[in-house]
Amino acid sequence: MKALVYHGPGEKSWEEKPKPEIKEPTDAIVRISKTTICGTDLHIMKGDVPTVTDGRIIGHEGVGIIEETGSAVNSFKKGDHVLISCITACGKCEYCRKAMYSHCENGGWILGNTIDGTQAEYVRIPYAETSLYPIPEGSDEDSLVMLSDILPTGFECGVLKGRVQPGDTVAIVGAGPIGMAALLTAQFFSPANIIMIDLDDNRLEAAKKFGATHTINSADGKAVEKVMQLTKNRGVDTSIEAVGVPATFELCAQIVTAGGYVANIGVHGKKVDLHLETLWSHNVTITTRLVDTETTPMLFKNVQSGKLDPSQLITHHFKLDNIIDAYETFGNAAKEKALKVILTN
Ligand code: ZN
Ligand code: ZN
Repeated sequence: MKALVYHGPGEKSWEEKPKPEIKEPTDAIVRISKTTICGTDLHIMKGDVPTVTDGRIIGHEGVGIIEETGSAVNSFKKGDHVLISCITACGKCEYCRKAMYSHCENGGWILGNTIDGTQAEYVRIPYAETSLYPIPEGSDEDSLVMLSDILPTGFECGVLKGRVQPGDTVAIVGAGPIGMAALLTAQFFSPANIIMIDLDDNRLEAAKKFGATHTINSADGKAVEKVMQLTKNRGVDTSIEAVGVPATFELCAQIVTAGGYVANIGVHGKKVDLHLETLWSHNVTITTRLVDTETTPMLFKNVQSGKLDPSQLITHHFKLDNIIDAYETFGNAAKEKALKVILTN
């Protein structure tokens, strides 16, 4: 089969690899129908994720059709359409029993990280029973790819951890796919205002279509002032960090109101200053989380009913064989006006 293989920082190729086989009775082999590229994959390509080694097939999102199941897999059979979760869950360890699947002792984020992933014609999924979701007949598969990672990530790490409430003012820093997923799912709770902050006017324009009430281009360094103007010097009830660099986290901490929440989603590679000299008396809660995907079944229902439309996030389509071009487009997101790309096998 063909697969996208990482060969060290800056080196990748679309090449022939052996088709995966069942290794454990709890495995399933899935033929990928649709997959996508995540911001995390770009970090991997730069060499920022040391657990990913030379020869690894990357990718942790996708939908497909079951090709083969191990002897212990009873809920799925050959031919079933399935959604692949970016998080693998054994369902039995201490963390899984707390629904903290991201920290599963036998899984967590392993797909396209420590085991071969979904940017390939076929993928082996461990613990298939608890790591795949059945897709009903007639579903829009493009939309469902957004449920593998970005929607549960934006919702769980941003909206739920940030305790968004009706009438709140929320700021989301970073209008990439994850920030947009937080923007779409924050609206379940009817906040009064959602302020989107980014450096890219195209993305801010898109954010308005997806429900942002205000947008701020922070390129002039005046984002704090502008948020304070919009909120009558009060600040926001929840600030959601969806970039993963020191400046955006510090911005989130500066604009939160007394008693508010700072919810971090971004993957940070550098240390960040925490200004306790101002925050100590501010009654704020700062949260961190990895996505557990425990809300995926709920999000699935909202997509099925049309209440949530993640297809809005899809800007480009490619054939899976053209994945190298897709990386080029996604890697130049501002120039290409790209949010999410869909790759069809
Ligand atoms: Zn991802
Ligand atoms: Zn587990």
